Amino acid sequence: MGSDILQSPTPIRPHMLAAALNQRLQTTLEPTHVLEMFRETVEQAVPGTGVHFDAPPAGFAFSVGATGPHVANYNLDVDGVHLGGIRLGRNQRLSEQELGRLEELLSALAYPLRNALAHHAALHAAQTDPLTGLFNQTVMDRLVERELAASRRNGSRLGMLVVDLDNFKAINDRHGHQVGDHALKTVAETLKRMTRASDYLFRYGGEEFVVLVCDGDETATRKAAERILQAVRDCAITDGNGCPIAVTASIGLTTQCDTDSPQSLFNRADLAMYSAKDRGRNQISDTPRR
Ligand code: GH3
Ligand code: MG
Ligand code: MG
Repeated sequence: MGSDILQSPTPIRPHMLAAALNQRLQTTLEPTHVLEMFRETVEQAVPGTGVHFDAPPAGFAFSVGATGPHVANYNLDVDGVHLGGIRLGRNQRLSEQELGRLEELLSALAYPLRNALAHHAALHAAQTDPLTGLFNQTVMDRLVERELAASRRNGSRLGMLVVDLDNFKAINDRHGHQVGDHALKTVAETLKRMTRASDYLFRYGGEEFVVLVCDGDETATRKAAERILQAVRDCAITDGNGCPIAVTASIGLTTQCDTDSPQSLFNRADLAMYSAKDRGRNQISDTPRR
């Protein structure tokens, strides 16, 4: 029996790494995947290199590995458009040859990353309301469906709040649409501060917001509603002359039943909000209007 001959694999040449990376990058439109693939190839070409990418225009950041004291910073520009900044670095010095390899990989990265960021931006725009940055109604329908199923699996409950600003038309009429927009943005920021990271916040319509309280039994949901009611009253909203404008909300509250669909859950909270209006506004109700 002949002896086995152990052969080390043929090393991949740097320019082949860039070509292989370019091909791999065609398989995804997710910026995080694109950068993970880039980072894997960087690891083969220049071991130990950390990758930090920051794209403020797209509101996107990616970071894997420590960049250490020896870093190279690049601006990634494609066809005159600035995508963001990328920092590559490690603990040992980077030789000229290694920097050359990294730059070759960066050229393979640029166009696929541009496409992925554009896709990311389009998805973001389709899911969010441009004035407040909150999720829109389309996302709400899908998310509530998903969270209802998850809470049934976990044996937990969802709570829902419909928060409608009171007499908002009068604020627009008295102070103008711009002040109205400013008030909506301020309320949205307040709601963000008042909700837990695990909860979801949506702009359902003009001056109507929905809060989905995850793991929200009766007590947790009521506490969330009380916090929000007070925080909206305390909102520092001013007119064009800096004079304060009073803003209040009516809040409808409900918690999940066994047979709920996203629509039935929302309908109950919405009808409860209308009964808060009927009772004089600026309050919480958990009883649907009849
Ligand atoms: P209620 O207490 O019964 O809810 O009274 P309301 O005036 O808040 O309700 P109504 O439905 O009569 O009016 C809603 C107002 O919200 C009218 C509309 O102009 C305003 N609105 C909706 N979307 C926007 C927006 O994006 N910007 C501004 N500035 N106003 C908006
Ligand atoms: Mg209103
Ligand atoms: Mg309304």
